[in-house]
Amino acid sequence: MPEGHTIHRAARKHAELLGGAAVSAESPQGRFTDGAREIDGQVLQRVDAHGKHLLYRFPDDLTLHVHLGLFGRFLTHRGAPPEPRGAIRLRLSGPDGTIDLRGPTACELMDPPEVEALLARLGPDPLRADADPERAWNRISRSTRPIGALVMDQSVLAGVGNVYRAEALLVQGIHPERPGREVTPAEFDALWGTLTRMLQDGVRAGRIITVSAEDAGMPRSRIPRGERTYVYRQSTCRRCGGPVRDWQMDGRRAWACPTCQS
Ligand SMILES: [Zn+2]
Repeated sequence: MPEGHTIHRAARKHAELLGGAAVSAESPQGRFTDGAREIDGQVLQRVDAHGKHLLYRFPDDLTLHVHLGLFGRFLTHRGAPPEPRGAIRLRLSGPDGTIDLRGPTACELMDPPEVEALLARLGPDPLRADADPERAWNRISRSTRPIGALVMDQSVLAGVGNVYRAEALLVQGIHPERPGREVTPAEFDALWGTLTRMLQDGVRAGRIITVSAEDAGMPRSRIPRGERTYVYRQSTCRRCGGPVRDWQMDGRRAWACPTCQS
């Protein structure tokens, strides 16, 4: 599943490619024919990312909501697009290019109350300038659930996935199994700061590199694939060299270093 940085990058790219002009919309696969018809010929005003959700805004409060889920993906074509092949749910085209959307969990039109309800269900997104970390803290500080589960719960904090969970908790020395209410306010502030920095970094780089140049002993751009995380998919901790433990947490694999994290 893509993490928030991928979604924010898509929002920027799509706004740049199709924004400010009338788009043509079609559903080559046929599963979004009515929705595509409503968008067709409308001007794309902007694209917002909230956690893992994308909102494409058109005039008259018309909003297209997309959530990629586990299997969804976008393909961008500059210039004239190829003939549609396979299960393309939605094809959006403008003067400069085309975006194909395949296999999303959600691709639907929303009216303003539906958009409001969606945003109310989501926790603050560290990548958004208007994010209010207090909302996440209110949930975390009262919860007996493990902090590792809380940071990936999109209603607590939006946009954080499995890699950033493992890495930000390692950097802050917080064990994923620690109950939310045992995280101190200072630890939460530092964790929010680390998540924000890591996600912003991911938006810039287009890939996840959480290990610092200092810890890697080389510029971050040169860190080989497979060595770019401290504990995620590692067998030894890239900070202390000790063994990394992994286990299932709410159906997703979690990683932690028992030496660095408590
Ligand atoms: Zn360690």
